[in-house]
This record gives sequence, C-alpha cells and structure tokens, in this order.
Amino acid sequence: MDVTLKNIKLVPHPTARSQAISTKKISAGSVVVSVPAFTSALLEAEKGQRCDTCFRLPPDGEKLKKCTGCASYFYCDTRCQKVQWDLEHKRVCKSYSLMISYLHGQQFSQHERMDVILLSHFLGRTLKTKPVSSADNSHDPFSIFLSLLPGSHASQRTLDSIPKSLILDDSLVQDIYSRFGNNNFTIHSHLNSIGHGVFPLASRLFNHSCIPNAAPRYVQGPAQPVLMEVVALRDTDVGEEICIPYLDPALTQSRSQIFQYTYGFTCQCSSCRDISQLGQIPKPPDSSETMSSLGDELREYVGVSDVLGAELPTPSLSDLPLGLRCALHESYMEQLSEQFSKASHEGDYITAFGSGLILLALYLLIYPTNYPQIGLHLLELAKTHWNALITMETSGVGAEIRSQVRIFLSHANRILRIYGKEGDEHGPLDELVKLDELLSADT
Ligand SMILES: [Zn+2]
Ligand SMILES: [Zn+2]
Ligand SMILES: [Zn+2]
Repeated sequence: MDVTLKNIKLVPHPTARSQAISTKKISAGSVVVSVPAFTSALLEAEKGQRCDTCFRLPPDGEKLKKCTGCASYFYCDTRCQKVQWDLEHKRVCKSYSLMISYLHGQQFSQHERMDVILLSHFLGRTLKTKPVSSADNSHDPFSIFLSLLPGSHASQRTLDSIPKSLILDDSLVQDIYSRFGNNNFTIHSHLNSIGHGVFPLASRLFNHSCIPNAAPRYVQGPAQPVLMEVVALRDTDVGEEICIPYLDPALTQSRSQIFQYTYGFTCQCSSCRDISQLGQIPKPPDSSETMSSLGDELREYVGVSDVLGAELPTPSLSDLPLGLRCALHESYMEQLSEQFSKASHEGDYITAFGSGLILLALYLLIYPTNYPQIGLHLLELAKTHWNALITMETSGVGAEIRSQVRIFLSHANRILRIYGKEGDEHGPLDELVKLDELLSADT
C-alpha cells in the first residue's frame, strides 16, 4: 500500500511490517492525521444515553429519538438516523433483538457481546460492497482493513451468533473477524471509554509504543461517525517514527502478554526494555506505614515536591532503585487512584494531597512527556487544592495553597491544550478556564 499523507509516509520497518515517519517537522498539538470510524458501537453502559451514530449526548432536557424498527438504536435527530440507516442499520435493524437475546442466552461475556455487535455493524456496512483492491483505490477503508495482519479466528459460537442475513460468505466473515481483536480502538470522551471503533487507516499507519509521541483523540460532530485525530504530543523531527499507544501504558505487568497474544508482537520500546530488565515486579507492601514511606521515596526519586517547578521531571525507569520496583505493580496505581479520589471526594484533603502527589510521581515515571492522563491528573490536583482552600480553615497556609493551585493549573493547561478538545462539551479545557477565573477573582 502506497501511503503518503500531508506530513507522514509509510516506509519499511526493521521488525514490524512498516512504520509511519514524519516528512515534515510536526509540532506538539498538531493533528498528524484524521480518520473517520469505519464502524463503531457504544459500550452497553452508554447505550440509550448517546446517539448511536455520532456518540453525542442529547442537549439538556432533550431526548434521543428511538428507531421504531428495533427500539434499540437511538439518535439525535432524523439526520443522524438516516446516516446510520443508509450505512448499515437497514441491514441490522430486523435481526438485532434476536441477536442480543442469543448473546445473553449463550452467556457471552460483555467483551464478546461488544465484538459481535461491532462485527454486525461492520458486516451490515460491507454486505453489499466488495473491497476495492486495485492500487489506485488503496485508500478504500474496507480494502485497508483486509490488508491488516490477522489475529485469532472466530470461534464457532461467535459465528453462530451472527445473523445469517449478514453473512454472504463464511470465509470473508473470518477474514474480517480475525482482524477485529487487534485493530479495535476504545473510543473515549474526556479520556473515559464510551465505545469501540474500527479505524483502518490508523491501524495500518501507526505502530504501538508505550512511550508514544502521538495519541488518538476522538471528535464528535453532527450526523457523522466519530472521527479519530492522531495528535502529536511533542515536537518531532523529519524522519522520526510516529507511534500511538494501542493500550494504556500503565498496564506495566500485563501489557507484554497482551501484545504477544492479542497483537502478535513484542514491544521494543525503551520502557518495555527497562521494565523487563528490572525483572520480577514485587507486590507493594500491605502495611500503611511501609506504603507511605514507599510513596515518599517514589516522590523523592521522581522529584515531585509539594511545590512543583517550572518544568515537570522526566525520571528514568532504568535506574529505578530495587526498593521502588513494587511501585510498578499495577495494583499500586489502582490503590493510589482510589485513595486520591475517595479522599478528595470526602474532603479529607491532607490524604488527598499526599496520595495525589505520589500518583503524579507514578504517572511521570510511567507515561511519556505530555501524556493527557498527566494533564488530567494535574487538573484534579488543582481542583482538590482549590476546594481545600475554600472549605478548610487554611489561615497561614492559604497563600501557599493558592500558589500550588496556580502551578498545577499551568502545567495542566499546557498538557491538556496540546491534547486538545475531545468528545463531549464541558470537558477538562472548560474546567481549566473556570478554575482560572475563580482564582483570578479571588486574588
Ligand atoms: Zn447524533
Ligand atoms: Zn432499528
Ligand atoms: Zn513498550
């Protein structure tokens, strides 16, 4: 496939099939490429809450319109309904209810149900079309999808669950299914998962890295499927490979297995090399005393003091001391996040400040520069400190906390502006502006 886009091109890669390298200098925050969803499906928890075509929430006080055929698909308006009807729903509508009761009757897991629903959308969309394989039409998304490397095949049980009306050719269904698991993106809004989608060109172009220099964000617009925009997280030079994360780099223990079994590759990024050289990752201690000294040591190693400097630290994983290796245990981040959000929610600010800063140190250790999760967490830290300021008896330390809010906010602002606006209205960028206004009005 000959792909040359505005600022990248595909060239051979020593171990992977190919790589997308930049043909121009790309600055942080620029969109490298935009790819519309070829097919997408909402998570079960979002079904009925969002439009099935554009994934937007209805405006306040308004209700979505239900498809009268299946009573299971919901739309903003007739435009959104028509887009999906013409694309695929007219072939899926009649068989949808039967398919869903079959999936529940056969006790398919939520994950398996998602795959089958997405597959039914895909088949509905492609039923009447043939992939165009001539070189001239190599930008046809269906052809690109079928040119991706296959993963595991569908089980008989999965094949049996697909409505017969959607199957023209058994082997084509297998060809499609085998490219599902490893080419499926989680669509998010404000970084919260809302659905899954297939974006063939993005799959074809970008290799994975756990410390990527780009990341996908999802943009919603009226009467159109969700658009993936791949955003540069930092300035890149001509000839540099552009990589995106296929999964959350915070899966420090499980990711190498997921790459091997689901994606069929071994990640060669420096983070994976460093982690594998650190050897076995021990469990974090149980006692709260040892836990808190682990947190202090981690903050010291990374360089996260109570008041952050003008630059965020970029700690090295390879020099991580033996005693801090347990911080890479996946349960540690989970525990810290839980502790931080519970304490901020309950107004236990001393605990929230402590666990929030340890969590920041851990994010800086694991995630690459300008990763949106770091920005979002800095915004949470700013909000927590602000809430403490206005609710607590802070006489004497008020000025100090106020200046901390300002520093968190300025780092959050820089990182979240690079990532840009994603998904629903009233997102983190709006919260930043609001908090900044409150802060200015207060001083
Ligand atoms: Zn819509
Ligand atoms: Zn319907
Ligand atoms: Zn890696």
